[in-house]
Amino acid sequence: VIEIEVKDVKVYYKSTKAIDGVSLHIKKGEVLCVIGPNGAGKSTLLRVINGILKPKIGTVYVDKRSIYEIPHKSAAKIFGYVPQKLHSFGMISVYDFVMTGRKPHIGLVPTKADDERVFKALKLVNMENFAERTLEELSGGELQRVLIARALAGEPEVLILDEPTNNLDLKHQTELLNLVKVLSNEGLIVIMSLHDLTQAYRISDKVLLMNKGKVVAFGEPSKVLRAD
Ligand code: ADP
Ligand code: ADP
Repeated sequence: VIEIEVKDVKVYYKSTKAIDGVSLHIKKGEVLCVIGPNGAGKSTLLRVINGILKPKIGTVYVDKRSIYEIPHKSAAKIFGYVPQKLHSFGMISVYDFVMTGRKPHIGLVPTKADDERVFKALKLVNMENFAERTLEELSGGELQRVLIARALAGEPEVLILDEPTNNLDLKHQTELLNLVKVLSNEGLIVIMSLHDLTQAYRISDKVLLMNKGKVVAFGEPSKVLRAD
């Protein structure tokens, strides 16, 4: 994937304009941070970008092609999504859970290569020693890192993270942001919502400021975020 373009997207619920005309574009190797207060529409926008949520109005283009014309399995290989939290999970091991991230790649049964990918992903978030644990046994921060590993196990070209630093202590926040930098240097497109402006300033190539479903500003951090 060379370029993602979001064009004039609107998502309205009964009484709320969750997204009210948002456009943006982002290229290979760039990091986009989406910033805004609670209810600004960040989560909704991220779910639109990875195709989970189809807006009534507007389209997302992946290399000039509408995301809604891409077969589901191909789209699933392109996007890795890290939700803000997991709403429910059973007695599943970390290993099996991260393996679910390989679903678009797996044939009948997982192969040695799939197994290696799972461990590589766990290693990237320093969770390789937790493979046999169940999700229930993890702390909030550990679960967050496992969610990221699941997304990375799918070898996505576009990684979308919804407030990924929320449950992490400072050390792990720094590690995550460093990992994001490494991945984007390798050519990944990274799109994430954040609320720490300093972190956004440091890590992003583009920033999207949102409020009440609208774009307040979009561009390079030095032009969008002032130091004062
Ligand atoms: P953020 O991630 O910036 O906090 P959200 O995208 O979660 O914002 O929400 C944007 C607005 O849309 C909020 O007012 C929220 O209550 C509303 N909203 C989100 N999802 C739904 C939904 N499924 N049904 C109705 N309203 C929703
Ligand atoms: P989270 O990921 O933090 O659990 P969601 O993305 O599910 O939150 O929802 C974000 C916001 O949208 C919340 O404020 C929630 O109350 C609101 N929301 C979600 N679903 C609905 C819905 N079906 N109707 C009204 N508001 C909703």
